[in-house]
Amino acid sequence: MNTVDIVVPCYNESEVLHLFYDETSKVTDSIDGYLFNYIFIDDGSRDNTFDIILELSNKYDNVKYISFSRNFGKEAGMYAGLLHSTGDYVIIMDADLQHPPSLIPHMIEGIEEGYDCVAAQRTNRKGEARIRSMFSRSFYHITNKLTNINLVSGAVDYRIMSRQMVLAVLSLCESQRFSKGIFEWVGFKKKWIPYENVQRTVGKTKWSFWGLFKYAIDGITAFSVAPLRMVTGFGFFISVAAFTYIIITLIQTLIFGISVPGYVTTLSAVLFLGGITEFSIGVLGEYIGHIYIETKARPLFIIHHTNITVDNEQNHKNYPAGH
Ligand code: UDP
Ligand code: MG
Repeated sequence: MNTVDIVVPCYNESEVLHLFYDETSKVTDSIDGYLFNYIFIDDGSRDNTFDIILELSNKYDNVKYISFSRNFGKEAGMYAGLLHSTGDYVIIMDADLQHPPSLIPHMIEGIEEGYDCVAAQRTNRKGEARIRSMFSRSFYHITNKLTNINLVSGAVDYRIMSRQMVLAVLSLCESQRFSKGIFEWVGFKKKWIPYENVQRTVGKTKWSFWGLFKYAIDGITAFSVAPLRMVTGFGFFISVAAFTYIIITLIQTLIFGISVPGYVTTLSAVLFLGGITEFSIGVLGEYIGHIYIETKARPLFIIHHTNITVDNEQNHKNYPAGH
């Protein structure tokens, strides 16, 4: 019997969890030869999500849980789930039923065909604001240009992975995790299954526009130093332009003498260079910020309650860089 762990990060999902378990179990019960376990991650929910998870775990043997001491974000939730998984395969799935359980049999099929990873891909962006879709598309375009990973538009975290791939994902122990990129970076044989976007029925999305923007910047800086090169390029370009301008002005002055007006030129140059300098410092700052956070090597999450026995080795892994 193969075992599959379903990792479900939950933040304020009390309304949907019973339904999630019922709907998902209906599907998994019909799959022969695989034993499914759930690992619910309560990511410091403010509602009674944890009580519902406890109810489920009391009722069903295949429900495990980890409850964080506060909200650490979905990335930390997924990481904790993977870290504590023991199954031959792991499925990562949202709690809000936007990831249709009906895809699970297709995922298992893909695994049996010999793929290491079978991932869901949203084919439309129904129920999403147009401006958000537009930014999202540009994000994929820019990231793929700037990094050496190829992010697939519409790819979501909903996927099944072999243990081998899970270990590879865990071996990237950076604390600022950008899973979309990490899943691509580790490689392995991957199959995509398209699905229609499902709107959230209850609860609401935790993403704000600003949150997504920050996520996009983090994604680019985590996988590429191209912005730093761009700054070098700017510097080079401006130096060449400045040098040319100096030569021209020098010749003009020697031939025609000093012409006093120059207010606009001076002001433009000062403002332009000031802007470029600020921008460049900003880009450097992004990277320094990342280095700062990484060197602290803080744990990615703090567990408050769990019914999973954590062995020391695993615990150690939660404190990367040997801390
Ligand atoms: N989530 C989480 N921690 C957070 C935010 C979200 O564990 O800080 C979970 C959430 O409960 C859900 C999944 O991550 O199961 C996706 O969140 P959401 O539905 O808000 O994102 P969207 O579907 O809009 O991308
Ligand atoms: Mg959702």
